[in-house]
Amino acid sequence: FDGKVMVTGGAGYIGSHAVLALLDAGYEVVVVDNLVTGFAWAVDPRATLVEMAVEDPAVRQVIRDHRVRAIMHFAGSVVVPESVSDPLKYYRNNTVASRALIESAVEEGVAHFIFSSTAATYGTPQRVPVAEGDPTVPINPYGMSKLMTEAMLRDVAAAHPINYCALRYFNVAGADPQGRSGQSTVGATHLIKIAVEAATGKRGHVGVFGTDFATRDGTGVRDYIHVSDLADAHVAALGLLVSQPAESHILNCGYGRGFSVLEVLDAVDRVTNVAIERRFEGRRAGDPAELVADNRAILAALPWRPKRDDLDGIVHDALAWERKLAEMGK
Ligand code: UDP
Repeated sequence: FDGKVMVTGGAGYIGSHAVLALLDAGYEVVVVDNLVTGFAWAVDPRATLVEMAVEDPAVRQVIRDHRVRAIMHFAGSVVVPESVSDPLKYYRNNTVASRALIESAVEEGVAHFIFSSTAATYGTPQRVPVAEGDPTVPINPYGMSKLMTEAMLRDVAAAHPINYCALRYFNVAGADPQGRSGQSTVGATHLIKIAVEAATGKRGHVGVFGTDFATRDGTGVRDYIHVSDLADAHVAALGLLVSQPAESHILNCGYGRGFSVLEVLDAVDRVTNVAIERRFEGRRAGDPAELVADNRAILAALPWRPKRDDLDGIVHDALAWERKLAEMGK
């Protein structure tokens, strides 16, 4: 592989794990991150960090200076309920910023683009598990902001010599098993992060948002995937894009099985030996009842295989990182 991989959002949660996976696989990495939600200390020192917004036209110079041949684009906003209350933030940070980045990539002749997409592009699926060819009808601005970027990539790849892989993430959780990174987001809203914060005393209780969904116990069901497995999928996807430069892909990233909120909280209680207080609350805006991946496409397309498909293991790694954050005073 001649050149570097640019990782936008490489100072954030999933991006910092992708940086580790790329470096561990022998790639050279340049991170572009504006550090609004990410942290410079989360970027492995083997990578170069450029503090810059992805929509900045100066990204073109970074691409030239570092001979960037592929971009992994993680930078963006990720909180579903916030996207409902502040949709224009999502269309700006996700859709509009991605448009500018894709333009820089095309103008500089970047060959490959890997995009952090989401299962929220499906909205409320007509069937579960949901497959890539199923209708994409987002029920919140977050999902729509990502789907619009997928549409841009589809059209750009048809018009220019660039191929792409959109990876539709289900629920990402856990932390690097070696303890090198984890979820450090301030004011996190994601369930497993919230629960391990409660288990370590950073917050008092966990709210259970909705108990009347049409699921086995009434709470929302999600397909939780270990962040390091997800990072490995990106490295495998890059290999595929390089080996077949005329082909692009949209792939679900999940394990194909779901856990309810209560099942997740049971796992956290088990792993932490703490009975976390649960408060049953109303539904949160924009939440579908159940999202589980049909993952046959990614298993067929990539040499990737899940290595950490174990809910207790995911919680264990998330907890270890939460304790490390506390030690670091963060
Ligand atoms: N959830 C919850 N309490 C929380 C955070 C999340 O009950 O403090 C529920 C949420 O309603 C959904 C599931 O947990 O059913 C996963 O939500 P999360 O925010 O982690 O991810 P999302 O699926 O929204 O991307």
